[in-house]
Amino acid sequence: MTQSLKDRSVVVTGGSKGIGKGIARVFALSGAKVVIIARHIDQAEAAAAEIGHGTFGVAGDVTSLASVEAAFAAAAARNGGIDVLCANAGIFPQARLEDMSSEQWDEVVDTNLKGTFHAVKAAVPYLKTSGQGRIVLTSSITGPITGFPGWSHYGATKAGQLGFMRTACIELAKYGITVNAVMPGNIITEGLVGLGEAYQKTMAASIPLKRLGTVEDIGHAALYFASKEAGYVTGQTIIVDGGQILPE
Ligand code: NDP
Repeated sequence: MTQSLKDRSVVVTGGSKGIGKGIARVFALSGAKVVIIARHIDQAEAAAAEIGHGTFGVAGDVTSLASVEAAFAAAAARNGGIDVLCANAGIFPQARLEDMSSEQWDEVVDTNLKGTFHAVKAAVPYLKTSGQGRIVLTSSITGPITGFPGWSHYGATKAGQLGFMRTACIELAKYGITVNAVMPGNIITEGLVGLGEAYQKTMAASIPLKRLGTVEDIGHAALYFASKEAGYVTGQTIIVDGGQILPE
């Protein structure tokens, strides 16, 4: 079987909802032993129970390195190590830069960018012993390629993740660890639904494939980067956006 994650130990930050939950489900169905990490343990456990296949929920907050280290230690103890990290946890509150407070900026940067650093740093000791470690970041088209009103802080973090990746992949290559990023377009998740129906309709109409993406669309792209077969691919991105960034 190709692209099987059979018996690979996976942690997914922000796996209790949305894209992270979609990644967790696709990976679990591909044979992986998945641990979901999120702040609200009740939601992490509920998502794990819904997915099944031995999926497990652990509490963790990516804004705290100590919290992530404790969560990954629990995941590694349960599944005998960590082979794959999906650093996916992220938030996208909207605020125009003229109205944005320093605290609003910090909250998004601390979760999306510093949180990615914390997750990667905490995972590396386990991924080194795996021998075929994989790191998959959830970036976005917003920031690296496009912009959107209210998301200057968010776009900065999503572009920043790619800058982080391009050095991390070089530093970690000697351990056989790859680092790649999925760049979703507009994907139907709890977070996106919170932006309102008008936003979703306008967006869907502007996308060449005329629909928003599903969390499984992202899960299958992440599955490729996480697979043993992708061992010669590092520092790369894949855009999953229904053609949104292409000029019509
Ligand atoms: P959701 O709001 O649906 O889910 C976010 C997840 O992250 C939840 O599991 C949440 O759980 C967790 N989370 C939030 N803050 C933290 C934290 N500090 N520590 C640990 N976990 C945290 O978001 P999406 O699924 O839509 O987005 C997921 C990722 O995908 C983000 O990085 C986002 O930027 C990216 N993305 C999303 C797009 C979309 O269209 N939806 C498009 C492009 C990128 P809890 O609150 O319990 O901690």
